[in-house]
Parts: sequence; structure tokens; C-alpha cells
Amino acid sequence: MADDIVREIRINPIVPSESVLVATARGMRPRKQEEVVKRDGREHVETCPFCKGNEDKTPATIAAFPNEANWKVRIVENLFPVLGDDKEETGINFGLQQVINGYGRHEVIIDHDNHGISVYEMSEDHLQTLFGAYRQRMAELYESDPRLKYVLVFKNFGPAAGASIPHTHSQIIAMPVVPENVINEVEYSRQYYRKHNQCVFCSLIDEALTYEATIYDRESGEVRRKVNVGQYVVEKGERFVAIKPFASRYEWEVHIMPLTHQSDFLEIKHEDLQDLARVMKRTMARLEKVIGGAQFNFFLHSVPRAEEYENCTESFHWHLEVCPRTSIPTGFELGSGLFVSTISPEDAAKQLRDVDIDS
Ligand SMILES: [Zn+2]
Ligand SMILES: [Zn+2]
Ligand SMILES: [Zn+2]
Repeated sequence: MADDIVREIRINPIVPSESVLVATARGMRPRKQEEVVKRDGREHVETCPFCKGNEDKTPATIAAFPNEANWKVRIVENLFPVLGDDKEETGINFGLQQVINGYGRHEVIIDHDNHGISVYEMSEDHLQTLFGAYRQRMAELYESDPRLKYVLVFKNFGPAAGASIPHTHSQIIAMPVVPENVINEVEYSRQYYRKHNQCVFCSLIDEALTYEATIYDRESGEVRRKVNVGQYVVEKGERFVAIKPFASRYEWEVHIMPLTHQSDFLEIKHEDLQDLARVMKRTMARLEKVIGGAQFNFFLHSVPRAEEYENCTESFHWHLEVCPRTSIPTGFELGSGLFVSTISPEDAAKQLRDVDIDS
């Protein structure tokens, strides 16, 4: 399989308007490789504003887990918010120049009190606390103001992924619009639901868990082809699964989602958090073993809490997208919107699945 050259355009099954060019020809390098970051593995850095003992160097604590004195996870206002308080004067709308006031909240979650710890090194208990912190703060923000239409939680690791402070942290941006990526997923999955009466993400999981499909010849009844369709599962827990998307935009992209249908991350239960933490830790450990030190982003896509999406609870399925940044998109990709993957997603999934993380 690894030697077979793949050259095909794959349609994203969730958002069919997006597609990916998988081109694995040897020597085919349309994308420049992104640098691996030198890891700062120090536990404590005297001058780091996010390290313990420097709490007065950040804006005031919004929330701390388990408590402010002994925090393991701490949420603070972002010092340089991209969205902020209402301005007296709203933007001027003129003709084709339409503006929405940049109202919203921008907060930083200090993921851990250990400065240089990687996600795969965090304990399952800690990751559970971290995901619990995401859930609590998202809920509070949605409740704080009905004008906030979407709360996005994401993490940047490494300068190319946008992280400006090396201390491990994630961010929350609560915004007055639903971002386009989420709208596309929500709208297309709603269309799929109307047609098939099933959630497209659930269909995708079902397909991924069906290990093999046999295609028979209609006339002779002979086996024409056996297709290995379960080749995208990277990690599976009791309640969560990590899947390598068939049409991955990034070579090592992996999506983690609940095995049973759930549209809203805010409805995640305590037992779910435990399994999510486990699947996340194991997935990140697999990525570390295969593409050690790669810069990455991850972000949560949950059903927007805005009124117009109230009827999407059956059709949308929340998920966490992990996008390692191993190469730099080129003009071809920016100009066409067609992402190029130089590794076949099947091959990448196999490498991630086969690597030994238990010894
Ligand atoms: Zn630090
Ligand atoms: Zn579903
Ligand atoms: Zn998504």
C-alpha cells in the first residue's frame, strides 16, 4: 500500500464544498516542510508570566482549578484581546463595507502549572480537569451575553501554529458571529440529515468501525473487491474515537469525537471527560512518536448556542480537530482552497495506529 502512488481529489464528506488533493508521488513536495520546534521542557521559568508565583504579571484570575491558591489550570483575560468590550461608536456601514462591532471576549487558559509539559505528558486526571475547565468557561460565556453566538476553544503549539508564549496554554474566543468553518459543518450536516435521516458524523464513525467491506459482482456474485474501510481509526476508547479523516487537509490531522451522538460539548458528562482525556492523551502520544515535536493546533467544534441552530441537535456532532503543522501551505493551496496531502491518509493512520506507545 505504502508504495502505491495515490493521486486523487477527495471530497470532504462533512463539507462537500471542500476537497483535498492527495498526491503521494515520490519526490512530490509541493509544500515546504514546517520546522520542528525545539522544546522548552523546563518545569518552571522565573520570568514567565504564566508560571506559578507570577500570578500578578497576568490580568486577574477568572477561574482556577481546583482552586486559586493551588491552581493546576488557570483562566485569565488575554492581555491583547482580538475582541473586546463594546465601543460607543459602532463601525460605519456603507455600501459594500459592512461591519460588525468586534465585541466579544478573549481569554487565556493556562493549561498546566508545569511550564514546558506537552499534552501527551499530562496525566489523564489533569486532562480531565482541563476539558472540564473548557466546558465550564464556555457555558459561563454563553450565559453571560446572548449576543455571543459562538465560543471557540483552541490551542496553538509552536510559533508557526501561532503560540507567542511558550508556557503551555489554550485560548477561548467568544464572538458575535458563528465562524464560517462551523457554519459550513452545521449547514451541510443539516442537509445530510434531511436526506438520510442520520447524522453524517455518526455515519462516518459507523463506516470507520466496519473493518472490511466486500463488493460482489452483481451478475456472477463473485467477490470483486474487498475494501478495508476501517483503516482510519487511530485510537478507540469506550466513549470516544480518534479518526484520521479520509479527506485530511493536514497530513497528520486527527479528529476525536464521541462514539454516541452528541451535538453539544457542554453536555459532556463526568464519565465522558475521563474517556476523552484518555483518548486525547493516547492520540497525542501517537503523534509525538511518529512526528515528534511538530507544531500543532487543536480546536473544538460544538453546535452553536444561537437560536437559529436549535434544530441542529440531531444533525450535528461535536468533535475536536487536531491539526499538526508539518508543512506550509503554498500559493496553490491559498489560491485554490484545495489542500495538498503528500501522505495518503490511510498510510498516516496506519503509522499512527501501529506505533507502540505502551512500552
Ligand atoms: Zn511558564
Ligand atoms: Zn452523530
Ligand atoms: Zn470541525
